[in-house]
Amino acid sequence: MDEMSVFPMGNENTAFADYFIGKSYLNMLSTEQVLIGNVTFEPCCRNNWHIHHADKGGGQILLVTAGYGWYQEYGQPARKLEPGDVVHIPTGVKHWHGAAKDSAFQHLAIEVPGENCRTEWCESVSDDEYDKLK
Ligand code: MN
Repeated sequence: MDEMSVFPMGNENTAFADYFIGKSYLNMLSTEQVLIGNVTFEPCCRNNWHIHHADKGGGQILLVTAGYGWYQEYGQPARKLEPGDVVHIPTGVKHWHGAAKDSAFQHLAIEVPGENCRTEWCESVSDDEYDKLK
């Protein structure tokens, strides 16, 4: 897969492969002060439903750098994403993010600092749910 932006996409994301459908790449751009990862999704690739928990602060911010994709909170309509979009994900909100069917997708994922931050991974986004997105 070719690079999509000025931020190198790094290697295949094997560490979190259990929580994704399809192939993704992960490159940690910052591992101090604030964790920032560059996540690249092949077309149709998406992560499972998940929740960013924290006792104080926490959550995640997505900065879309390339391609087209989706962000969806549980029980809400999916939001189509394009380069330049910013998504603020509060703690405790079940959601997923990933590529569009016909486009690769890339976002920077910023882990908002907090106390006792952890991610709870839930069920995958089924083909039925995903194929309904327009
Ligand atoms: Mn997330």
